[in-house]
Amino acid sequence: MQKIYKFAVLILFLIGGTLFLFNNFVANYNEQIEKTKYKIDGVEFAQKIQKFILKIQKLRGYSQFDEISIGQSNYNNIKNSVELIKADVSKDIVIIKNFDTLYPTLYDNDYNHIINEIEGLLQKNQEDKTLLYQKYTYIIEQLKEKMYYLGFKSKLLLESDSDKYFLIEIMLKHLPNLIETTGKIRAKTTKAILDNSTDAELRYSIQSNCLLCEEHAKQIYKTINEIKNDIEKTRLLSLLENVNDETKKMQEYVKKTVISDKIDINALEFFVISTNVIDRMFVLYSTNAEFLNQELNKKLDTLKQDKLYGIFIGAIVVLFIFITIFSMVRSYILYASSEKKIKNNLTSIIKLKNDLEKCKTIEEISSSSLFFFANKFNVVQGAIYLFNEENNKLYIASSYATKEMKPIVELGEGLIGEVAVQKKHIYTEVNSDKKNNFKIESITVQPSNICTIPLISYDKIFGVLQLGFIQKNEIIQNEDFQYFIDMIIGFLRDAKYLDTNKKYIELIDKYVITAKTNKKGIITDVSDAFTKISGYSKKEIIGKSHSFVSHPDTPKELYKNMWETITSGKIFKGEIKNLNKSSKEYWVDITITPQVDRYDNILGFSAILQDITDKKKIEEYSITDALTGLYNRRFFDLNFAKEHKISKRENKNLVLLIIDIDYFKQYNDFYGHQKGDEVLKTISREMKLFFKRANDYVYRLGGEEFAISFYSNNQKNAFERAVSMKKSIEELKIEHSASSVSKYVSISIGLSFIPRECSMEIDEIYKMTDQALYRAKNAGRNRVEIATLNP
Ligand code: GH3
Ligand code: MG
Ligand code: MG
Repeated sequence: MQKIYKFAVLILFLIGGTLFLFNNFVANYNEQIEKTKYKIDGVEFAQKIQKFILKIQKLRGYSQFDEISIGQSNYNNIKNSVELIKADVSKDIVIIKNFDTLYPTLYDNDYNHIINEIEGLLQKNQEDKTLLYQKYTYIIEQLKEKMYYLGFKSKLLLESDSDKYFLIEIMLKHLPNLIETTGKIRAKTTKAILDNSTDAELRYSIQSNCLLCEEHAKQIYKTINEIKNDIEKTRLLSLLENVNDETKKMQEYVKKTVISDKIDINALEFFVISTNVIDRMFVLYSTNAEFLNQELNKKLDTLKQDKLYGIFIGAIVVLFIFITIFSMVRSYILYASSEKKIKNNLTSIIKLKNDLEKCKTIEEISSSSLFFFANKFNVVQGAIYLFNEENNKLYIASSYATKEMKPIVELGEGLIGEVAVQKKHIYTEVNSDKKNNFKIESITVQPSNICTIPLISYDKIFGVLQLGFIQKNEIIQNEDFQYFIDMIIGFLRDAKYLDTNKKYIELIDKYVITAKTNKKGIITDVSDAFTKISGYSKKEIIGKSHSFVSHPDTPKELYKNMWETITSGKIFKGEIKNLNKSSKEYWVDITITPQVDRYDNILGFSAILQDITDKKKIEEYSITDALTGLYNRRFFDLNFAKEHKISKRENKNLVLLIIDIDYFKQYNDFYGHQKGDEVLKTISREMKLFFKRANDYVYRLGGEEFAISFYSNNQKNAFERAVSMKKSIEELKIEHSASSVSKYVSISIGLSFIPRECSMEIDEIYKMTDQALYRAKNAGRNRVEIATLNP
């Protein structure tokens, strides 16, 4: 609202400012035009008055004549002329009275008084000559003054243009003065001639008027010379020269006659001469006025034209400004409406998003979408089908206000199937008889228009949306429709993906044995498969140490090695024997991966395990001796070679013992074969207890012969271990009456200490050890003999 208010103020300000400027511009021109018109009127007015004055002056001149001095016939002629002039003046008076309406601003009531006086004078025929002269002169002076005053009123005398100003000076001041002075000379000289008077006062007056004439002529000359326009100047100067020539002639005449007191001339003749001079002066006056008039009209034309141009340019500017304002208003309206539209759209999109975010399943998303369409686009029925890529069928996800939807549609079958194949929407108008073909039966309202729209994701058919309307609805044309569709597809796709993912996760949980621990080795999570193999429930195992499930047989070194590997951030792989809840052992192939954050800090460990118990069992059978549970000969052949290699690689000394029970044939013979078997088992157990370190191996090579391999720092230690084992067997105190070496069952041992640097082959070593045993037998049995190996 605030924005609109500001905008309106700006627009009003622009409009107001433009109109104000334009108005001012026009007003300024109008004022100048008006002023110029006044001036032109003023010139016309002054010209008319000047012409009028000329007539009054002539009447004044004629008023000095009398019947006695010029004779009856001449006087009658003059009388006729006077009557004619009077008639003319009467006409002029009518015109001047009309000036009231012609020049209302220039005319004033003073003219009425002057006119009244003239009219009064015109009535009187006989009068004193001097008095008449005075009365006429008074009127002339008044008119002259009025004319000068007119110069101000019409603003002519305020003209700043120099040429015009000088033309005005001449017209309003100098020429009227010159004409009047000459008029006075005419009247006074005429009187002097007629009175035959050489009155000094009159003579002086005429003389001074002559001088005044020269003075006025000089002024006029000076002023004309100021004019810049050469054509005007030259013409006026030549006219003035003409005037001066004639004036000079007239003045010579006056000097020769009146001033020289030789009044023998004809008054009528003089009147004609002086009238001629005055006429010439008036020619100069008219020409000057004409120039002035031309100048003023030129200015008026220029002003009118400038105003027209101004108006034209102004109109263009105004038009431009109005176009600007219009486009501003238009774009503002567009902006405002688009803002509203965007707001509306955003509201719809956000609403749809919010609705969909609340949904958890595909069905909920579909239902929510259909409800959204129903509310926003007057949809009366709708359904969403989803495409199953595995079997190329479309399954109904949800429907809105419909009863008999076909839940499964084959690709290409019916409208839904066709749209899925074409990947283009189909708009259908449903005739009442066809309605059933579409299998859409309304619960509330029957749609007569159906739009079936493909849902396409990454150029592949994802599903089909079908919407039903009562009236034709170009829903697909709606500019936001695609947004809605894309959003719905997005949500459906995510839900579908999550669905599939969930299935995978369930499968993994069910069939893959996994476990997670924190970085201290405390179990944080296990899969269902783990609970199955271990026999513990999640509740029982989570929070326990990883060693909770380990088998006591598993050498400590293996765990140490495993822990070192994974805590240094490496993956550990190995086979481990574990113990389940019912103390049954099981084997797993384990891969432990450290879980790290982005700075490689270990957060915990996750293990994937594989049950290899069966494999291990088979493996064990193949390397185990069934009677004693010791490793068999086969395993000795494989493992001793391996151990020999490891000892070289790891720079260790390997020890091999070959053991044989003394006089065992006799034992069997004396105690029986079964007892013999028992002895084998007992001795085996004892040897295993004696050699139980990680790298100690006890084998039954066959019959009552055994082998043991282990690592040792030196030969002395190895020998002592062999001796003490030999002793511990004797101390089992298994009675052997048939033995000649001891009361109890005893053994003989051949020992090989294989230093790390020894280069002998295995076979050779074995042979040497066996020979040592042979020596032990020969030396009396129940003893340990050391083999002497080559370096
Ligand atoms: P010596 O002190 O020289 O070793 O005398 P010896 O009697 O032990 O002689 P020898 O090692 O040659 O005899 C091996 C006897 O061990 C033969 C057999 O009676 C007995 N024997 C071999 N295998 C088994 C077995 O699996 N069970 C039983 N009970 N006796 C066995
Ligand atoms: Mg033997
Ligand atoms: Mg023996």
